[in-house]
Amino acid sequence: TAPKNLNEVFRSTKAHRDRTFLVYEDERLSYREVHEIVGKIQRYLREQGVVKGSRVAIAMRNYPEWIAAFYAIVAMGAIAVPLNSWWSGSELTYGLIDSESGILICDQERLLALSSHLEELKEMDPSFKILTVRTNEDQVEGAMQGVEFDRFETLIKGPAVEAEGVEIEPDDVAAIFYTSGTTGKPKGAVISHRNIIGCMMNAFFSATYRSMLSGTDPKNGSVEGEDQGSGSGEQNCVLLSVPLFHATGCFATLIPNSVAGSKIVLMYKWDPGKALEIIEQERVTTFGGVPAMVWQVINHPDFHSYDTSSVQGIGYGGAPSAPELVRKIKEYFPTSAPTNGYGLTETAAIVTLNVGDDYVRKPDSAGPPMPVMELRIVDPLGLDLPRGEVGELWIKGPTVIKGYWKKEKETQQTFENGWLKTGDIAYLDDENFLHIVDRSKDVVIRGGENVYSVEVEAAIFEHPGVADVAVVGLPDQVLGEEVCAVIQPKPNFSLTQSEIQEHVAKRLARFKVPKYVYFTDKDLPRNAAGKVLKRELRDEAHRYII
Ligand code: ATP
Repeated sequence: TAPKNLNEVFRSTKAHRDRTFLVYEDERLSYREVHEIVGKIQRYLREQGVVKGSRVAIAMRNYPEWIAAFYAIVAMGAIAVPLNSWWSGSELTYGLIDSESGILICDQERLLALSSHLEELKEMDPSFKILTVRTNEDQVEGAMQGVEFDRFETLIKGPAVEAEGVEIEPDDVAAIFYTSGTTGKPKGAVISHRNIIGCMMNAFFSATYRSMLSGTDPKNGSVEGEDQGSGSGEQNCVLLSVPLFHATGCFATLIPNSVAGSKIVLMYKWDPGKALEIIEQERVTTFGGVPAMVWQVINHPDFHSYDTSSVQGIGYGGAPSAPELVRKIKEYFPTSAPTNGYGLTETAAIVTLNVGDDYVRKPDSAGPPMPVMELRIVDPLGLDLPRGEVGELWIKGPTVIKGYWKKEKETQQTFENGWLKTGDIAYLDDENFLHIVDRSKDVVIRGGENVYSVEVEAAIFEHPGVADVAVVGLPDQVLGEEVCAVIQPKPNFSLTQSEIQEHVAKRLARFKVPKYVYFTDKDLPRNAAGKVLKRELRDEAHRYII
């Protein structure tokens, strides 16, 4: 029968027995071994008094323990609270207090970051406890300041007792995921079991149903790291390079891939050279993440010295991608299907997917909506606009969350009768393909004329000397805002402002040509989800230019 909660989803993965599930550096764990570890964590959590609805936070890198902890928590009906591992001590403290998590499962770096905040945490919950993972014994003792802690290494020596008999309904809360915070203080998106299973179904839909329709091998329709790995054939292998604490990594990649029995390779941190090494060594069939990661792999100076012929699908999303990327993928990975997926934390990832041939045909689109998702394009009054017109995108469907954790006002502002107001400016074309034009807050309004940063970025990406670019608006006394492009040139390319301006002028209307062009040899500032921090960039460009 179809799983109705993540306990049933996780149990179904037991069928993959001795297949490799997780690879992290030289560690390899089979599905059977991960089940064993999950049972041990569940036994431990039960001993700590964790019951259905208790919040248990996770703060660590993409270690195998992250995945085991997540499954252990959600499969016993408790609520997983994955915290952003890029957060500082005070941000982590904010997440722990906001979610009222009584237990934190945490690695060394996060533990040290939190060490000066432990008093606040004890104040929130006198029995607050930490389960340490991959920590150095001496440093831990010193850092704890009276907070109780246990070690993962000890827990693992005990017996495994998997959770039984917990009734979990589809609408029960499975997790709280914090939004990137590119627009302000992180909000906890309350994700239900139904939301996550809905995302899993969306992932499977694209890989099987669509390829069935087109009569192609399902593997060529793979999405955002999702792949079909069951059966007796060769095991699929996904390189999971985005953080697990974001929707794409957890819901669109981890969950469907574990159900499909894929091998998942984890990275300590993103590094395009290391990614190429892993692709060759592990015969990776799917990789991706955010568009910038795919660019970095393609632009890597040693790209051609690696064997990347195993790659069948390259899936990405989470941020706008230039049409040029699709062309580059076809050149560098001629036999693989590129996929662009659109989604938000509030939709537990996948809303639309543009896969393979469709994507090559429409490289500026995020694809048609998944069948269970409803999309509207509305004007500022919330009235539907005719097809083809640009407006705000609203979304409804089984993956759309009900609201934010303890944030009534923000919930009311963002949701209306089950519709999520995305704040993304978009249109649907005559084939119902979604085109994201820009985020409303990133639109540059120059003399009353809208300049969509995504469009100007896409044009600049067509310049062969450009490695990365972001377009922001800078204040202007007369026009309100002026267009500014911040460009990271490829090594050995020296670009000039007028060259870029001429390049854009050949492609776009005059008013969209950046007045300011700022070159930097540094990587553009990005958050953990791989999105450019445009606010930061705007401030920096402003200081530098004006
Ligand atoms: P915050 O709301 O705190 O700013 P965030 O919006 O960055 O955080 P996410 O939920 O991770 O948090 O990101 C969703 C946003 O990412 C979408 O609203 C959209 O602007 C952008 N996005 C996602 N996928 C795509 C895509 N395929 N193409 C263009 N933009 C995308």
